[in-house]
Amino acid sequence: MDLSGYLLLPAPAEVHAHADTALSADADGPVSYDAQDVQRRATEATLLQLGHGATALRAHVRVGDVKGLGALTAVLRARRSLRGLAELTAVAMPRVLTGVAGADGLAMLRDSVKMGASVVGGCPDLDPDPTGYVEAVLEVASEHGCPVDLHTDATDPARLARLAAMAGGMRPGVTIGPCGGLGDLPADVASRTADRLAAAGVSVVCLPQGGCAGAERRGTAPVRLLRSAGVRVAAGSGALRDTSNPVGRGDPLEAAYLLASHHGLRPEDAYDAVSTSARAALGLPEVRVEAGFPAELLAVRGDRLAGALSLAYSRIVVHRGRVVARTSAVREYCNSAAAAELGLPRQGRGELS
Ligand SMILES: [Zn+2]
Repeated sequence: MDLSGYLLLPAPAEVHAHADTALSADADGPVSYDAQDVQRRATEATLLQLGHGATALRAHVRVGDVKGLGALTAVLRARRSLRGLAELTAVAMPRVLTGVAGADGLAMLRDSVKMGASVVGGCPDLDPDPTGYVEAVLEVASEHGCPVDLHTDATDPARLARLAAMAGGMRPGVTIGPCGGLGDLPADVASRTADRLAAAGVSVVCLPQGGCAGAERRGTAPVRLLRSAGVRVAAGSGALRDTSNPVGRGDPLEAAYLLASHHGLRPEDAYDAVSTSARAALGLPEVRVEAGFPAELLAVRGDRLAGALSLAYSRIVVHRGRVVARTSAVREYCNSAAAAELGLPRQGRGELS
C-alpha cells in the first residue's frame, strides 16, 4: 500500500487495561459484571484501543468475590472473538490470598489460569498479609510458568524490597505498577528502591493518563529515575472510561505524549515506553520496521515522531501483516483567506495528520 506522507512505526502495545470495567462509566449504578455486558464492553474497548494502534493488550480482570470467574470467562470470550484483529491477554486479579478467606481466592486463581488467564496478578497491598499474597502469586505463577503483573502504589519501600527479593530471577517476568507513590518517597529511598527493582529484573508499568481502580494514587511513577537505574519502564492507559477515570482515552500515543510533555522524556524514549518496552514487558518478540520482524505496525501521517505525539488523528494499524483498523480525519477552514495563504484547505476537505 502507498504510505507516502506517513511515518511507519512499531505498533504500540497496551500493557495495562481493565477489560471488565472499561466503558462502564456512563451506566447508572454499580458496574455490571453480567457476562454479556462484560464481553460487549471488553470487545468494544479492545477495538477502540486497536484503532489507536495497540495490536497487543494485557487486561486485568477481577476474579473471586461475587464475580467468581464470570468476568474472566467473558473477557476470554472477547479474546477469542478478536483473534486476527488484536491479541488480548487476561491477568487474573484475586482479592485475598491469605488466611481463611485466602483459600477460596487461591483456588479461584488456579482455576483462572486453567481457564486461560495467561498472567497472575492482583493487589497485594489490599490483602491483610501483602507479603503472603505476593508469595502465593509467585507460587501459582511458577507452578504454571506464567508471568506476574501486580498492582501497587509503591508507598512502602520495605515491602517493595521484599517483593524484589522474591521476584529476582523469576522467569517469565514480573511486572508491577502503577507505582505512583514512588515519586513521593525521598529521592535517596526511591533511588535505592529503583536499584533493587532493576537488579531483580522487575518491570514497572506507569499510567501517565491518570491511574486505574486497582490503585489509589494518581501520580505517575518517577519515570526518569527508574530508567536511569536501569528499570524497564513501560506506559499503559489504565482506566478507560470507568468510574476511576470517566474520560480515559486508552490511547498509547497520549501516554507517550504525557511522558514527553510532563516528564521530559525525548519523544523516541516516550514512544519506546508504549511500544518496544511495552512489548518486552508483555514478553512479546521485538518489532522493528524491517524485514524479518513481526508485522505489528502503526502508520501515522507526518514525518517525525514528535509531530505524531503532538497529535495524530489519522492512523493505519497493521496486525500480523494485515490492515486491521484505519482512521482518517478531515478538517476544512471555511472561506478563510489566511488558510488559503498557507495552502490549507478552505473548500473541499483536507486530511488531518
Ligand atoms: Zn490497574
